[in-house]
Amino acid sequence: MRCRSCDSILSDFELLRKCKVSGDFLDLCGTCYSASEEARFMAEEANFLASEAEDVPEKDTGVGPQSIVAIEIQLGRREVTHA
Ligand SMILES: [Zn+2]
Repeated sequence: MRCRSCDSILSDFELLRKCKVSGDFLDLCGTCYSASEEARFMAEEANFLASEAEDVPEKDTGVGPQSIVAIEIQLGRREVTHA
């Protein structure tokens, strides 16, 4: 069996790794697995921070689109630019 993503040969351990959510076999090598886990974590974190920001009234805290940009910079999704 080979990795679904990069086609490298999977070890026994990698073969047995299942998706935490669906319970399906992942068929991903360690590299692709950690990349996808990281992507999932980043997405969850961004959603969490964005929803937190939405809960706070904008006029009291100044939380708005600018803060979302700051969050994305924190997560390394955006280049930090000085506009
Ligand atoms: Zn792979």
